[in-house]
Amino acid sequence: QWNAKPVEDLWKELQKGNSKSLLKKHLTEDRYKVLKDKKTSLGGNLAQCISSGALHAGSKVGIYACDPAVYTDPEWKDLFSLVIQDYHTGNPNNNVKHPEPSFGTPEQIDGLGDLDPTGYFVKSTRVRVARSHQGMPFPPAAKKEDFEKMEKLACEGLSTLTGELAGTYYPLRGMDKATQNKMINDHFLFRADDSVLGDAGGYNCWDTGRGIFHNKDKTFLTWLNEEDHFRFISMQMGGNLGQVYKRLVTAINHIETKMKFAKADGLGYLTFCPTNLGTTMRASVHVRVPMLSKDPKVLNDICAKYNLQPRGIHGEHSESKGGVYDISNKRRLGLTEWDAVNEMKNGVLEIIKEEAKLTWTPEPLDQLYNKVSKGESQSLMKKFLTADVYNKLKDKKTSLGGTLAHCINSGCLHLGSKVGIYACDPEAYTVFEDVFNPVIKAYHKVDSINHPEPTFGTDAEVAALENIDPENKMVLSTRIRVARSHAKYPFPPACTSEDLENMQDDTVAALKTLTGELAGNYYPLNKMDEATQKQMVEDHFLFRDDDDVLRDAGGYKYWDTGRGIFHNKDKTFLTWVNEEDHLRLISMQKGGDLGAVYRRLVKAIGELEKKLTFAKRKGYGYLTFCPSNLGTTLRASVHMAIPNVSKQPNFKEFCEKYSIQPRGIHGEHSESEGGVYDLSNKRRLGLTEYQAVREMLDGVLQIKKWEEEL
Ligand code: ADP
Ligand code: ADP
Ligand code: MG
Repeated sequence: QWNAKPVEDLWKELQKGNSKSLLKKHLTEDRYKVLKDKKTSLGGNLAQCISSGALHAGSKVGIYACDPAVYTDPEWKDLFSLVIQDYHTGNPNNNVKHPEPSFGTPEQIDGLGDLDPTGYFVKSTRVRVARSHQGMPFPPAAKKEDFEKMEKLACEGLSTLTGELAGTYYPLRGMDKATQNKMINDHFLFRADDSVLGDAGGYNCWDTGRGIFHNKDKTFLTWLNEEDHFRFISMQMGGNLGQVYKRLVTAINHIETKMKFAKADGLGYLTFCPTNLGTTMRASVHVRVPMLSKDPKVLNDICAKYNLQPRGIHGEHSESKGGVYDISNKRRLGLTEWDAVNEMKNGVLEIIKEEAKLTWTPEPLDQLYNKVSKGESQSLMKKFLTADVYNKLKDKKTSLGGTLAHCINSGCLHLGSKVGIYACDPEAYTVFEDVFNPVIKAYHKVDSINHPEPTFGTDAEVAALENIDPENKMVLSTRIRVARSHAKYPFPPACTSEDLENMQDDTVAALKTLTGELAGNYYPLNKMDEATQKQMVEDHFLFRDDDDVLRDAGGYKYWDTGRGIFHNKDKTFLTWVNEEDHLRLISMQKGGDLGAVYRRLVKAIGELEKKLTFAKRKGYGYLTFCPSNLGTTLRASVHMAIPNVSKQPNFKEFCEKYSIQPRGIHGEHSESEGGVYDLSNKRRLGLTEYQAVREMLDGVLQIKKWEEEL
């Protein structure tokens, strides 16, 4: 049996804190003195009502009804009326009367529809209403026998449900902790650890009479004696509010014929917490708003404008994760059920509209194709996306909703692109293979896509990788990187913000297990100050986020969520997390000792392969966002001073002959400085890792020889 602290102590507590609650605002000293020693007609008292609000200075409301009598007893109802009107109407002195229940006509309900046909924004939709048994006390004033009686009545009523709504009752008592936790994490079951509710007496006689009823699919559920006697819940994945609402209305209509619920004139259905009175309805979505919520004020302002309430992902008094919020109607009293659900619908549609404006999406496909067809592009994408291929692919989609537009957006906007196509997710290589396959063959100079198994070379072969510049004259630094993708996540354009955060967690957990020379720390981008970032970019350690080619490919979607860099003390081993690829493993150092750089990288790859499962496909090798990286995914480069060679008219041709790719000094799509070029192997597919490094070594030595001759 739960007991509130003495009312005098609670009153003192309330005066002490700087609480902004409606309780503190409306329980004046005069009102306190009138009520402090009174009992309600059902035997409840003031301490039970104010306990939680007094102990939790952060509460917004702070007052609970110890029993239904407080809403109607003459001495009590004025205090509650002030709180009720303030919460639901914004003005305590209003006298808004709650209308009779009205759920909308069947035609209206059928027209409610899906809030998010794209499926990108709304994870799940849920509508719940609360009900209280007529003539029974709320939890703080209830006794063990009351809870038992209520459970029995409820089970009798629920057992009469049929069809989709038919289900089974599972009492909390006897349910093992693992099952409970799983159901809580999946958002089906209530938690019993909300101290705000606990201090209101909500857990009195726990877990007597508590339990959950649900149908087979857990789309219709009923909570017994959590906060309210009943919470009837309809929920499902996705944004189909119409289906969710209709299911709930069907259930309520049936149950109303089996049980008597507490109601009062002008207040609607009576509930333990005054915020739930009236319709008692909370219609919510779990919606992905990582961009809008970057600045909490922006999201809060939209919510205020549309009478919405944002909550964290695990319910009231919890935090958001991965930019996902629970958004619901705030008002429950003074409007009909139909109006409340529409209030939520309109606000959520607006939120999705605003979030969509901030979220990367490709331009319409026909416009893109028109641009690239008319323009001067020399890209492989343009070459192989003939009218026939275009017509064959233009309406296809991957299972994650990826389209041809996602893949070619960047190539169509940047007519100078050489490749011009990215895979929006791993499946794109299959769904759009008519364009990808010829691009891959042409880029990597292979007749068929038949990549060998990873082969890093024997010890003797690795030992034979010579120092490119033992005199230390021309090579500033040497770097080798490989890309890896998690098998279970898509590429950036198809990622959700949660994917990015979860991926980051998985990657960092694996990196943290590295030891010795490879051991290091992870630095998330969103916690790194501007100056540090700039310095790391200048020193060639960190990626930039100013490459328009990558941006227009969707590579910066939800930037900088889930992005960061891991490196060892000396910055000779680094991992880029969610730049272009999920992981870029990098080994680098000053000078030309290619062998040392390669050995370090091979070791790191071996260690990480033990911890993580990377996306691979037979013949294609490791899968990457850009088709130019498929296969070995390996790029071995030197920064080398070639002021004379680089001025020769046949420089590019010479590079091409040795399959060497020259880049500017600040990475792809950047310029050279002072005759220093980034020279690397161009081919990554159709040869082994060892061969790729050798190809780079042989080509670079030729260029070096040429420079020495000039
Ligand atoms: P209520 O006011 O309905 O009791 P809470 O904020 O206490 O809601 O949350 C109860 C549970 O319902 C939590 O597990 C929460 O994550 C879950 N929930 C709420 N809205 C949704 C939704 N749209 N989709 C999935 N789960 C939800
Ligand atoms: P990648 O294809 O590996 O992502 P980028 O061309 O995008 O390479 O360059 C990434 C960063 O790596 C840039 O800062 C670039 O200057 C740096 N970098 C590349 N090769 C070397 C090298 N050999 N030495 C030092 N820095 C290098
Ligand atoms: Mg709740």
